[in-house]
Amino acid sequence: MRKYSVRKRVLVTGGAGFIGSHLCERLLAAGHDVLCVDNFFTGTKDNVTHLLGKPHFELMRHDITFPLYIEVDEIYNLACPAAPIHYQYDPVQTTKTSVHGAINMLGLAKRVKAKILQASTSEVYGDPKVHPQTEAYWGNVNPIGLRACYDEGKRCAETLFFDYHRQHKVRIKVARIFNTYGPRMHPNDGRVVSNFIVQALAGKPITVYGKGAQTRSFCFVTDMVDALVRLMESPDALTGPVNLGNPHEFTILELAKKVVAMTRSKSRIVFKPLPSDDPLQRKPDIALARKRLSWAPTTGFDQGLQRTIKYFSSGSGAGSPARPGRSPAAARGRASRSGSAARPGKTPT
Ligand code: NAD
Ligand code: UDP
Repeated sequence: MRKYSVRKRVLVTGGAGFIGSHLCERLLAAGHDVLCVDNFFTGTKDNVTHLLGKPHFELMRHDITFPLYIEVDEIYNLACPAAPIHYQYDPVQTTKTSVHGAINMLGLAKRVKAKILQASTSEVYGDPKVHPQTEAYWGNVNPIGLRACYDEGKRCAETLFFDYHRQHKVRIKVARIFNTYGPRMHPNDGRVVSNFIVQALAGKPITVYGKGAQTRSFCFVTDMVDALVRLMESPDALTGPVNLGNPHEFTILELAKKVVAMTRSKSRIVFKPLPSDDPLQRKPDIALARKRLSWAPTTGFDQGLQRTIKYFSSGSGAGSPARPGRSPAAARGRASRSGSAARPGKTPT
């Protein structure tokens, strides 16, 4: 791992979450001072306890919908629930986190002249009519559906980033992150990779939504962190948006079969209703990232899945916030029917 001659003070919002905790590790290993800010809505201290004793790591409980006055050189803005059942639990707070959170973090970046990276998402493309998705595509988002709090919140955050850039000359980086998986995913957040693994290991039915013909492309978390760091380090002229993800696309039914085979599970596959506005297909065009960041994912899906299965079979993740008495599948079904979703653990302030 490269060590930097100049130690930077780096803020990671959402640093106690899945991707954020891997990013904190990576930045510390590179020799930076890392300040992890999180309100523990979907993240947990367990994800960063192994970093707490390190002299260059600090953990702060803070909700980014409120202003933050600190001095930093770089900001990775990852704070936001990412799993559908979590961001639909308190949709108003989800939009506030994306929009007010972006305003607060951009204001901070402006004041201290920090460079700031936004964890945007493939969800800005909605249910895409262009396949694979390129950065030039403007998307197909339902602005009033159950996913809108997340999709439109993230779209508005992108708008704010570009307006702060044009109006205030803030140095910005916008990463459009596609589905990412790996150790420290929340075991009960209903995201498909963790959900299928947890179900398979418990010998419970594997819940495929719809016919399982919808596609996704999954990127292993260490590859994603590598891309985020490269984007932050790229020349200022590269503002993005840049698609980051693994273009290897397959159907959800194929994923279910693979997880059953790799865990040697006796679980059977069952079919449940498709949640509303669930994108039918998703695959990133990463030509821009390849060219400008010299980046492409290097972890094969079987390898990444094996590491993720190992994580969940070791009982890791058991310390994550409990979901009161409801399975992710049931919670998701309820979310799509009634507009509410499962409680991620603690209600955010
Ligand atoms: P995660 O839920 O594990 O992490 C998000 C973190 O943000 C959690 O620790 C949570 O407690 C924290 N948080 C939420 N609201 C907050 C607030 N108001 N103030 C402070 N902290 C807050 O999700 P993740 O998968 O690690 O995603 C990280 C980022 O990447 C998110 O912004 C997400 O939208 C984006 N992203 C992730 C994926 C993916 O597949 N994992 C795909 C696209 C985009
Ligand atoms: N999915 C599924 N069964 C599950 C969880 C998810 O079939 O138990 C499907 C879901 O409908 C979607 C895909 O898997 O089509 C990916 O879902 P996830 O929530 O992981 O991410 P997103 O929909 O945000 O891409």
